[in-house]
Amino acid sequence: MSITPVGAARAIHWRINCACNRRCAFCYGPEQRHEVNLEASIPVLDNLVDHGVRSVIITGGEPLLSRKVRDVLRHLRARGVSIVLYTNCDLFDQHEDVLVDTLDVLCVPLEGASEFIHDQMRGVNSMRAVVSVLDRYAVKGSPFRVKVGTVLGRHNLHELPAILYLLGKYRIEVWKLYEYVRYTDRELQKKWLNEQLGITDAEYRHATRAVLATPDRKTKISLSSDFERDNSYFMMNPDLEIVVPVRGETGEFEDRVLCNAANTPVSEIERLWRETIDWEKYQANLQASLF
Ligand code: SF4
Repeated sequence: MSITPVGAARAIHWRINCACNRRCAFCYGPEQRHEVNLEASIPVLDNLVDHGVRSVIITGGEPLLSRKVRDVLRHLRARGVSIVLYTNCDLFDQHEDVLVDTLDVLCVPLEGASEFIHDQMRGVNSMRAVVSVLDRYAVKGSPFRVKVGTVLGRHNLHELPAILYLLGKYRIEVWKLYEYVRYTDRELQKKWLNEQLGITDAEYRHATRAVLATPDRKTKISLSSDFERDNSYFMMNPDLEIVVPVRGETGEFEDRVLCNAANTPVSEIERLWRETIDWEKYQANLQASLF
């Protein structure tokens, strides 16, 4: 197979900021207080698009907290790439006009079928914000597709059938069940440890297998284990570092920094990235990210 520049990486996960208004115990967003610099970032993005990137998956931190997010979305729409955005939904209404005009896919979290469980993990009134978006946009005729993600832990293992039942009321592209990913250095994750929210690989497999086997299930489900996420991203931080999350021997992840895209030719980014990633996992992960 001939490889186009950027190693045929058709999609990039772009963390446009690091700040967030929530404090989720599984969060692995970068913790430095970087914010995207548009003047520096747009030429880099344009260059990647010129070399074959067709989808941009915008994440953070909470990307809707970024003062630049509207400009980012409008620019990407003008470039004709497909746009996927991850958000906790708290600021959705503030940016609704531009989101409706630009998004292809909106990814929202649901940690439980009840406010008690969901807000325990994401904080007060988080579930109300998510459900308000689902009610309006996870429906027939929506301008974008909606994906829902759940991180599995001790707090919600028993809730999966109830979440599936709730999602059955909506038009959901896919419900993604994430295994918790442990990072070496993320401050927020101490809460996960302290509150003993972790589950074993076997529990993750058992719970996901059970929900996959639900009779007459209409919601599509996809799985994302920590194994599958190892070495399988093409990711850019707000300061334009190209990073790949990799799992070390202890099972903990870290972001391996390959280079800074501001001063690295695309051909060199490609070489460094292709040397690092697991191509098969990348392809599978990409499929699950873009569905
Ligand atoms: S998981 Fe998302 S919403 Fe929660 S703290 Fe991290 S960036 Fe914020």
